[in-house]
Amino acid sequence: MDTDVLIIGGGPTGLTLANDLGRRGVRCMLIDQKPEPQFLPKMERCNARTMEIFRRMGLADKVRAAGLRADAPMDVFLVLDCVQPPLLRFPFPSVAEYKAIIANSTDGSQPLEPYQLISQYTIEPLLRAEAEKLPSVSVRFGFELLSFVQDADGVTARVKALDGSMSEIRAKYLAACDGGNSVVRRQLGIQLHGEGNLLELRQALYYCEDLYERIRIGKGRHYHAVDQEGSFLIVQDSTKHFSLHAVVEDDAAMARQFEKVVAMPVKYDMLYVGKWRQNLLLAERYQEGRVFMAGDAVHLVIPTGGLGMNSGVGDAIDLSWKLAATLQGWGGPGLLASYETERRPVGHNNVQASTYASRGRRAWRNMYRPEMREHTPAGAAARAELIAVADVEQRKSNEMIGAELAYHYAGSPLIASEEGAPPYDFRAYVPTTFPGVRLPHVWLADGSAMQDRIGYDLGYTLLRLGGSRADMHGLQHAFERLGAPFRVLDIDDAHARDIYGYDLILLRPDMHIAWRGQRAPDDPQRLAAIATGN
Ligand SMILES: Cc1cc2nc3c(=O)[nH]c(=O)nc-3n(C[C@H](O)[C@H](O)[C@H](O)COP(=O)(O)OP(=O)(O)OC[C@H]3O[C@@H](n4cnc5c(N)ncnc54)[C@H](O)[C@@H]3O)c2cc1C
Repeated sequence: MDTDVLIIGGGPTGLTLANDLGRRGVRCMLIDQKPEPQFLPKMERCNARTMEIFRRMGLADKVRAAGLRADAPMDVFLVLDCVQPPLLRFPFPSVAEYKAIIANSTDGSQPLEPYQLISQYTIEPLLRAEAEKLPSVSVRFGFELLSFVQDADGVTARVKALDGSMSEIRAKYLAACDGGNSVVRRQLGIQLHGEGNLLELRQALYYCEDLYERIRIGKGRHYHAVDQEGSFLIVQDSTKHFSLHAVVEDDAAMARQFEKVVAMPVKYDMLYVGKWRQNLLLAERYQEGRVFMAGDAVHLVIPTGGLGMNSGVGDAIDLSWKLAATLQGWGGPGLLASYETERRPVGHNNVQASTYASRGRRAWRNMYRPEMREHTPAGAAARAELIAVADVEQRKSNEMIGAELAYHYAGSPLIASEEGAPPYDFRAYVPTTFPGVRLPHVWLADGSAMQDRIGYDLGYTLLRLGGSRADMHGLQHAFERLGAPFRVLDIDDAHARDIYGYDLILLRPDMHIAWRGQRAPDDPQRLAAIATGN
């Protein structure tokens, strides 16, 4: 074997997977067809859950240092242009403000990390450089996967280098993080279902030294212009780069459109123009034998709501520990199979959430009439009508904390079953320890965060809370017999026990809860077998 896991694609999903596998000591190779990560505008917001994941990997501070500065407002505006008074302003805390809210929260309802605005073209090279530091990871840009075959022991990939030379790479597993046009998915004949090609837009990237400083109507990250072209101006992480989406005739029109939305004389360079299409699609399967697919390769959403890259990071984190456990020999036969069982419903929910958000946006966009831009009584009345609708509908894109924090794996064969799973709502997060959810964040008496006390690559952790001394030897032995890393962590803090509502909580390596109880499990062998996919 040339490597244990061959990752196809150095976008955010593949790079997160490489970073996580590398931190778990797994030998992997990542290839990408491009010579280098590209300077193209795409995602620009890591959500709270992604930032929690990066914190566990030791990357959160680096991502923040490279991203938008902490005091920059994250507000969203509806405008006629960047000069006239805004029609609507949706305030959102800056990272610094959000951190203060989190610091003062005691009820488990807040994430440990706030979101972070960072452009995809900034985070990709950062994740690549971090992956390259890991001894078990090899990163090779400039290699394209052409095809592959799999057999009982592994996968053989046919790869073409930039100079045209061909080679083969043999791996135990293939992780296809090769984006929306996934060669792997297409070779497997796996269909995408849902709504494809909903709308074709143009997107352009501009460099403008002083625009951000000169916007007097309020600083924020998104400016939705009420106009015929559906213009949407996005502040990138440097605050000197901007992207604009609009439906216009040709590439050249994107320069005029920028000038119209900005509405003040500025010197700028248009660095890139391209077309892209809105899709709301989900793959019918995420796995075939030794091949696993993740990220845009299996789900495509409208960026509204920022669930694209963030869903891919979630996929990568679920797949990573299962691959590591299987390669290390303690993952049972059901462990890797649970990747699709757990992540496809999340993909489905995120496509639904994005559908809901984009319909909200369409609802107010469809109300556009040219007189809205006129300063006449009729114009003012039309604007007022649109504002009333947008005040409800636009929020659907920006208030998705449930999709970020509340997704869960209840019902998965790896999770101990309990009656009465909490209803899932992508707009709301209610902290709970119901088996399958992410462990809610709580601060401990010494000021540390519970999540920081859970070791990163230690396997399973049994939290013994609030002074409980329940005898966990049975469970310890059960995990030992399977060869799975397990430890008991005593947290005597009464507050954490109150928030969690249980004395005992079993956490998986990804910090999702596998089981909870007030006393040691009656059948520890069975619980350990369930949690490890045996
Ligand atoms: C305009 C826009 C705005 C967005 N905003 C957000 C946002 O705010 N938040 C968010 O979460 N998401 C956002 N997204 C979505 C986000 O960009 C994608 O979901 C994300 O890039 C998916 O990451 P990925 O790694 O799965 O796939 P990709 O980023 O598509 O990466 C796939 C990689 O695979 C490589 N590859 C493909 N085929 C091969 C092959 N045969 N051999 C080798 N390499 C190959 C490609 O070169 C590429 O580098 C936005 C998207 C767009 C278009």
